Amino acid sequence: MSALASLEYDRAFIWHPYASLKDPPPVRLAKSARGVNIVLDNGHSLIDAVSSWWCVAHGHNHPAIVEAIRRQSGRLCHVMFGGFTHEPAVELARRLAELAPKGLDRVFFADSGSISVEVAAKMAIQYHVALGRPGRNRLVALKGGYHGDTSLCMALSDPDGMHTLFGGIMTRHFFAEKPGRWNRDMPGDRSAFAQTTESLSRLLDEHGREIAAVVCEPVFQAANAMNFYDPECLVEMRKLCDEHGVLLVFDEIAAGFHRTGPLWAHLRSGISPDIMTVGKALTGGHVTLAATLASEEVAETISGGRPSAFMHGPTYMANPLACAAALASLELFRSSDYESRVAAIERQLREGLAPLAGLPNVRGVRVLGAAGVVEVERMPVRADVDRVIDEHGVWLRPFSNFIYAMPPLVTGEADLARIVEAISDLARCEPGPEQEDSDFHE
Ligand SMILES: *Cc1c(COP(=O)(O)O)cnc(C)c1O
Repeated sequence: MSALASLEYDRAFIWHPYASLKDPPPVRLAKSARGVNIVLDNGHSLIDAVSSWWCVAHGHNHPAIVEAIRRQSGRLCHVMFGGFTHEPAVELARRLAELAPKGLDRVFFADSGSISVEVAAKMAIQYHVALGRPGRNRLVALKGGYHGDTSLCMALSDPDGMHTLFGGIMTRHFFAEKPGRWNRDMPGDRSAFAQTTESLSRLLDEHGREIAAVVCEPVFQAANAMNFYDPECLVEMRKLCDEHGVLLVFDEIAAGFHRTGPLWAHLRSGISPDIMTVGKALTGGHVTLAATLASEEVAETISGGRPSAFMHGPTYMANPLACAAALASLELFRSSDYESRVAAIERQLREGLAPLAGLPNVRGVRVLGAAGVVEVERMPVRADVDRVIDEHGVWLRPFSNFIYAMPPLVTGEADLARIVEAISDLARCEPGPEQEDSDFHE
């Protein structure tokens, strides 16, 4: 099929994420990718400033990961995980346990981030069932959070977000207030997150006996709010959970693997969760895989209950190609000094984006690790976004009120400078109309 015919077919018949099939926003035809660049059919290339939705940590088509997939594909592409195991899964579980916070060494492999969150929730429920508390079948999440697109994940994501449409099939969980912005110049100042811990405390006092777990994205509320909050908030959440016999689940799918600096975002807090989900950058953005890690206490309690089996098992569980990719990716995380690289990206984003703070259409600028966010009053129109992408050769995917960069962690100074220029250009464009049903979803 010619490029034009492919694009026409795509436009008529294929849904894209959060897009309409009627007059959909344009898509670009990607042919190949290498490092930070996505190469288009027309020969142009774009710097991937969003790491293809935050997963391409080491750059696209990393030779070590490609080679690991190639080698594994010559031996075993897939085998059911019911009744079989294989080296890539065993080795990956072992490596993940070494990297995870202490004690989280029990691993469930899932095929996507959303599924790993579903699994975490089911673990929490089964844990309480095993303890003879079947009434604890609801969860608490934070307003402003995002945990995926399947129905349980939607029900845990910001209640004022885009999921009101499906209210009819969603369980009503509880929500604590959204934590305010982390002001790193005022250490010890709890006022920014007091509303979160106070509302959580009230919810646990009133409904503790119905609640199995508290779930949150540690430090970085990504897809719904682009909000960085104080790690001290997690310390207080841990205390409250312990007081009420409630499990604490950290969703590190977006923030994990150095996106905010440390390997795990929650490492800044000094406390550990009972269950943790990882995904996105796990395979360095080469193939889908996620995992739910649980503590020995959670695992042993579930195993001591009735049923003793943990009740989940997807068809492609622990797919060997994905596990091989993840192993190669973890080796890159181990052997590269990503903390310093991310610190350099953070400095350059901070300096580069700071001047935008005074612009009339800009509400705020914030940077943490390899994530830089410019919050605008109103998003420029799509034509401006497309012009900026094409002129600068930088792929941006702004959504809601956020123009942002979350580039691959290997992005060099020159490429990052181009990303900053593209964002600066876009932030200076004329504000677009008030959004209603816009195509600026994440
Ligand atoms: C992206 C994301 C998910 C969902 O992962 P998928 O692989 O898209 O299902 C869950 N939680 C967080 C924090 C995410 O950013």
